[in-house]
Amino acid sequence: MNAIELTKSLISCPSITPENAGVLDILQEELSNNGFDCKRYKFAEEGTADVDNLFAKYGNDEPHFCFGGHTDVVPVGEQNAWLSNPFEPSEKDGKLYGRGASDMKSAIAAFVCAVVDFTKNNKFKGSVSLLITNDEEGPAINGTKKVLEEIYKNGEKINSCVVGEPTCPSKLGEMIKIGRRGSLMAKFDVFGKQGHVAYPQWTLNPINPLTKIINDIISLKLDEGSDDFPPSNIEIVKISASDGATNVVPHSASSQLNIRYNVSHTAVSLKNKLNDIVKEHTEDTNYQINTEYYETAEPFLTKKGKFTDIIKKSVNEITGLDAEFSTTGGTSDARFFKDYCEVAEFGLIGETAHQVNENVNIEDINKLEDIYKNILINYFK
Ligand SMILES: [Zn+2]
Repeated sequence: MNAIELTKSLISCPSITPENAGVLDILQEELSNNGFDCKRYKFAEEGTADVDNLFAKYGNDEPHFCFGGHTDVVPVGEQNAWLSNPFEPSEKDGKLYGRGASDMKSAIAAFVCAVVDFTKNNKFKGSVSLLITNDEEGPAINGTKKVLEEIYKNGEKINSCVVGEPTCPSKLGEMIKIGRRGSLMAKFDVFGKQGHVAYPQWTLNPINPLTKIINDIISLKLDEGSDDFPPSNIEIVKISASDGATNVVPHSASSQLNIRYNVSHTAVSLKNKLNDIVKEHTEDTNYQINTEYYETAEPFLTKKGKFTDIIKKSVNEITGLDAEFSTTGGTSDARFFKDYCEVAEFGLIGETAHQVNENVNIEDINKLEDIYKNILINYFK
C-alpha cells in the first residue's frame, strides 16, 4: 500500500479516542507482512477506558530508532459543518479531507511506508521500530507512557525517536519541535468569616489575603527566557468569592492560575515559590487556606547536535527549507519519550488539526514519507 492509500484506510476507521476501530489491525498487518515483529499492548486502569497500543520492531541491534505516534482522533465536532463525512476520506483541490488527516494519520502512514521501504532496500546496522498508541488525545494514561515502561521492563532500549505530530505552521518543512514547555495549574481557596461589612471587627475577609497573594504571584518574574524558550508565564484565570449581598463580607474566596514554564523550572520549584507566597500572607492568621496543584507536563529540551542536525538536513534535502527549531505549542507524547531517549517532533501542517474539515495537502504525504526515509538513511549512515 502506498502512503496515500494507507492514510485513507486509516481515516476510514472512526478511531475517536479511545476506540481503535480496527485502525491498529491495518497497521499491524502491513508491518508484519513486511518483516516487523508486532506486539499489542492493552492497558487498563480504574476510571479510564481500556486502550490498545502497537509496538512493531525490525532488527535487534543498536542503535534503535523509533517513530512515535497516535491513531486516535478527537471527535468530529459540528458534523453538519463538514463538507463530507469525516470518516470517508475525500479529495478536493489537491487536499485530502477527513478526521485525523493532519493529526496524525497521514504521518503514521508516511512513516509506516518509510520504514517498510527503508528496511527492504537498505543494509544497515541497528533497529527500527514504531510505537503507536490509541490514547494520545484522551487522558494519555494507558498509552505511550505505559508501553515504554513495559518494553523497557523487557529489556528494550530506544536511542532516538521522532514523533510525527503536525509541527509545521503553514508549509511542510518549516518547523521541527525539539522541546515543549511545562504546564502547572494551581487553585487557592481562602476561608475567613462571613459577616456585616459595617462590623468588620466580627468578620475575617478572605479577599484581603487572596488579593495580596495574587498580586505577589503576578509580580513574580520567573525568568528572561532563552534562545529556545520564551519567558515562563503565569496567568491568573479565575478569581471568585462566595455569594453574598453587597453588605456582606464573604466566607470564602478562590483563585486559579496556569503557568507555562521552561526548563529553568520544575513543577516542584514553582510550587515551592507559590507556597512561600501563600505562607507569607496566611501564616499566623485565622485564615484557612487550601492549595491544590495539577501538573500536566514537565518541560523538556532536546540538545541540538547530531540528532537534530540529521532531521534538519533530511527535511532540507526534500523541501529545500531551512527548518526552525521550536518549543512552541501544547503537549504531546514526546513528553514521555524524553525520559528514555533523545526525541524531536516533525510532521505535516497542523493548521486544521482538531478542526471541522481537517485536511492536508496530498503531495505533502508523499514528501513526508521521503523525509522520514531520508532521516533513516542519514541516521544509519
Ligand atoms: Zn496529535
